[in-house]
Amino acid sequence: MDQKGTVDNLLQEERVFRPLPQLVIEANVNPQELEGAHKFARMDPTGYWEEAADELDWFKKWDQVLDDRDAPFYRWFPGSRCNIVYNALDRHIETANKNKLALIWEGEPGDQRKYTYFELYREVNRFANALRSLGIKKGDRVVIYMPPLPETVISMLATAKIGAIHSVVFAGFSAKALRQRINDAQAKLLITADGFYRNGQIIKLKETADEALVGACADCVDSMVVVRRCNIGVDMVDGRDFQYEDLVRQERNEAPTEVMDADDPLFLMYTSGTTGKPKGVVHSHAGYMVGVHRTLTTVFDIKPTDIFWCTADPGWVTGHSAGVYGPLMAGTTSVMYEGHPNYPQADRLWSIVAKYGVTIFYTAPTMIRMLMRFGAQYPKQHDLSSLRLLGSVGESISPEAWTWLYKNIGRSECPVIDTWWQTETGMFMIAPMPISLLKPGSVTKPLPGIEADVVDRDGNPVPPGKGGLLVITKPWPSMMTGMWNDDETYKEYWERIPGVYLAGDVARKDEDGYIWIQGRADDVINIAGHRIGSAELEAAFGMHPAVSECAVIGVPDKIKGEAAKAFVQLNIDFEPDDDLIKDLKRTIRNELGPVAVIKSIEFRESLPKTRSGKIMRRVLKAEDCGYEIGDLTGLEED
Ligand code: ATP
Ligand code: MG
Repeated sequence: MDQKGTVDNLLQEERVFRPLPQLVIEANVNPQELEGAHKFARMDPTGYWEEAADELDWFKKWDQVLDDRDAPFYRWFPGSRCNIVYNALDRHIETANKNKLALIWEGEPGDQRKYTYFELYREVNRFANALRSLGIKKGDRVVIYMPPLPETVISMLATAKIGAIHSVVFAGFSAKALRQRINDAQAKLLITADGFYRNGQIIKLKETADEALVGACADCVDSMVVVRRCNIGVDMVDGRDFQYEDLVRQERNEAPTEVMDADDPLFLMYTSGTTGKPKGVVHSHAGYMVGVHRTLTTVFDIKPTDIFWCTADPGWVTGHSAGVYGPLMAGTTSVMYEGHPNYPQADRLWSIVAKYGVTIFYTAPTMIRMLMRFGAQYPKQHDLSSLRLLGSVGESISPEAWTWLYKNIGRSECPVIDTWWQTETGMFMIAPMPISLLKPGSVTKPLPGIEADVVDRDGNPVPPGKGGLLVITKPWPSMMTGMWNDDETYKEYWERIPGVYLAGDVARKDEDGYIWIQGRADDVINIAGHRIGSAELEAAFGMHPAVSECAVIGVPDKIKGEAAKAFVQLNIDFEPDDDLIKDLKRTIRNELGPVAVIKSIEFRESLPKTRSGKIMRRVLKAEDCGYEIGDLTGLEED
């Protein structure tokens, strides 16, 4: 950071979008209530979260809301006893939700499965019993290497129900990446499938799982459970491998739910590895369930009639909080889709929205950019009038992508809920609600009970309009409770700027207190003393009709110290040539001013991304500058 520790703000996006009056009238949280919640949380933060905790069921309530004596190892709801699965499933069986649909699943070939809360509850119980009979007990780690299948949800819930700790590993990861996670977690059991459908093909999963176990640490994984998805023959190792269907068939429909202490771990989630070696973030039962429940139900305004579709894979934290636990705790109906978003063609997602009457559609900028590339004719073929809210997470959404989504998918009526959060935060942190005024590209303001700020390197708040480091200044309930076997890494989040949580992103606050994420702190580019976030430069590129995706990095420059280099993927119908390069440079200059000099532009067929679809600038930078690339197990290969 320079002497003031600020980041220049170049992008000026001044449009403001208001919600339709009907949305405001019907919202669970109206503007007065939101203001009231902010006030309450500011005056009495623990009181605010205590009230949120009271909406859930507990075996025993807490002695205290927050114990901060051993900060930064904060303990939420110490003394309480609970289990998130009790709130996600068991309690619904006693209510009118019992026979409501919990999950609508669609396979890539078009097959469907639907589960009511009661059916899901029984499936989970049967598998929980099976896990117990395999010797899995409280505290054991279970790695779930699965595509989006109902059994993935069932495995997560069954594991948590018996007090074991799950770690879902994205099915697109290689044997090496899987092995690394199994070893780090010292997992006792691996759950996988024979294969799954992706882009019209069968991807063999059991084979990769077998490969991962060769060379895995000697005392991990003594059994493997295999779900039959594609009915392909797989080699089963006698005494080690079990067919899921055989295990559950003989089990009872009821199973006791383990009584957990507040900070008993619920799951490990290895972060997607955009910047380096994956870290095993730990989330625990009590705080996680409170934070996720309060934020999901308020931010997405969940109503009994909603059909909620979060497109994130269960292998990411979004797939946990917004794909499985949040919707189930809220008693809503979720949609899950197995396959490729463009299979058999680029309207698959819209056909699913129309078929099931999806009301809330939550996705990521990488998906939106891809859909934009194919054009608005695909959504036009379907009746998307059921949609009420749209959502985005994972990267900054450019104003261009935001308005495309708003217009073409949301009929210029559905608010785009841009949620900023992280694997580490467990729940939404900075996000609007349906009643909020929206500015495309801004994640708006911290939610009630969340204190966030933009500061310089010494922790001093920077003035409005200036960029700096995004920090969270108070603990929040669903914060990670640690890093698996790595207290030092956990502490670093709180020690780089003493006493506050350093998120690792750069952001700015505008005059209205709206927060704009400018990119990752590691990706800031310093051009002749001006520090510029990658998101702003890339958003400016996005305004040119030729650009589909773009990544901007800093490269060494003799005069300026660093210069910006852009990697651009073009939209269909555009050809790379010198005129286009000139035109692109002109666009950036017009949008961002003379500071944002782009030294060079390289056209690419595709950009390197994490498995979760985030652009990996560090890979481009390493390639360009000839550095060591570092850990690449998170890199997308196809
Ligand atoms: P790693 O920490 O291993 O590098 P990662 O940060 O990509 O991986 P996640 O926890 O999945 O892992 O992602 C959180 C990050 O994603 C945030 O720190 C931020 O950089 C980005 N992000 C998430 N939501 C938004 C959003 N709405 N706007 C801008 N950026 C976002
Ligand atoms: Mg991160």
